[in-house]
Amino acid sequence: MIEDTALAEFRSTFRTWLRDTIPNDWRDQLADDYRGFNVWWVSAMRDAGYGPPHWAKQVGGPGLSLPEQLVIYEETTDPDCPGYPGLFSCAYTHVHDTLTLHGSPEQIDRHLKPILDAKCVWAQAFSEPEAGSDLASLKTRAFRDGDDYVVNGQKIWSTLAPHGDWAIVLARTDPDVPKRKGISYFLVDLASPGIEVRPIKQITGAENDFAEIFFTDVHIPAENLVGQENDGWRIANTTLAAERGPLAIPTALTLRETLADAVALARLQIPDDSAFAVSSLGQRYAQLHGEVEILAEMLYGTLAKFIEVGEPGPESSIIKIFLAPLMQRVSAYGLDVAGSAGHHEKGASLRDRASSDWLVNHLASWVWTIAGGSDQIQRNIIGERVLGLPRDPLVD
Ligand SMILES: Cc1cc2nc3c(=O)[nH]c(=O)nc-3n(C[C@H](O)[C@H](O)[C@H](O)COP(=O)(O)OP(=O)(O)OC[C@H]3O[C@@H](n4cnc5c(N)ncnc54)[C@H](O)[C@@H]3O)c2cc1C
Repeated sequence: MIEDTALAEFRSTFRTWLRDTIPNDWRDQLADDYRGFNVWWVSAMRDAGYGPPHWAKQVGGPGLSLPEQLVIYEETTDPDCPGYPGLFSCAYTHVHDTLTLHGSPEQIDRHLKPILDAKCVWAQAFSEPEAGSDLASLKTRAFRDGDDYVVNGQKIWSTLAPHGDWAIVLARTDPDVPKRKGISYFLVDLASPGIEVRPIKQITGAENDFAEIFFTDVHIPAENLVGQENDGWRIANTTLAAERGPLAIPTALTLRETLADAVALARLQIPDDSAFAVSSLGQRYAQLHGEVEILAEMLYGTLAKFIEVGEPGPESSIIKIFLAPLMQRVSAYGLDVAGSAGHHEKGASLRDRASSDWLVNHLASWVWTIAGGSDQIQRNIIGERVLGLPRDPLVD
């Protein structure tokens, strides 16, 4: 990124603030009290005028410029910095971006303030067991009953739902029209009677990141409908764009840090510069380093367009299919170099120097080929919207 003096000063002040604010034992604090630490961390960022980075002043945000926001994402990807905004990612991006565009003034007043005060964790409950890539075929039903809607159905892969207080939910309100025309968008209190949240355990060992959500005769006040009944598909597209926008930045930039950690381990094995340069570990590193830097350039290019147009374009799909396999190869490099010590095991020689669990990193790196739209779906988007190839026929 081209940095002028004012931006360099902003970065330096923010770096100093991070250094002075983050406690040395933050990892222990996070492990002891996951929610409490997340609440403290996002509140500290907000109070200092750094968060939520992309919120405008009118809704209580800091009103930062896009380059300043980028500085915040860049600096907080440092491995010595707690993940940001952590538990509040769906609230900060999906909920904020959707409500500011489609919510009523009452909904904005009622829901954005508790997010700012770190009092409310939100989850996104869109996907269903048979509606992922083809989200519009979702079957969860909602029908109007007096002042309420009554919802029945099942969601899956709802990130953060085990910690969630509220969720954004899509449900079918008219089954008799083409599938995209009969969906509505709701704000749902997860403490409502009839809701059961069942956490899903993952291969990485994480037990509380995802959940299935079951709805049995759940009453949602009609005031929690966002926009008009049956206009939910259009509104959901704002949410999905939020997911593919600034949220991708920290993920992509973290790769630089991950590769730096991996090469630090490789250099312990081959400290000599010339020997490293001709070794297979050195050659692999050179290739990965080049690709990570190309990714950063692509990201900054897409961001420049994002500033101009105000929302991510189909180019973000190109970044995503470049990013996902690169994450797998970078984490595989770290795992190869760290060997068995790459999986946290007490007493292993390299373990103390490995800043993360490389096996878990590697297993987790695969999620990006699926989350936010699978690679095949991204290829469809590139074919149709970037290259102008004919669309798949819509049969329903
Ligand atoms: C880390 C992670 C976080 C997630 N978080 C959330 C969340 O918070 N909330 C939420 O609602 N959902 C979430 N999801 C769910 C995610 O959106 C879906 O998993 C994703 O859309 C794919 O849907 P699916 O799993 O049903 O796979 P399917 O749609 O069944 O796809 C199976 C395979 O078929 C391929 N395929 C499907 N259709 C086509 C096509 N038209 N052309 C070519 N190939 C095709 C796919 O690429 C894939 O390889 C998350 C998923 C992950 C991995």
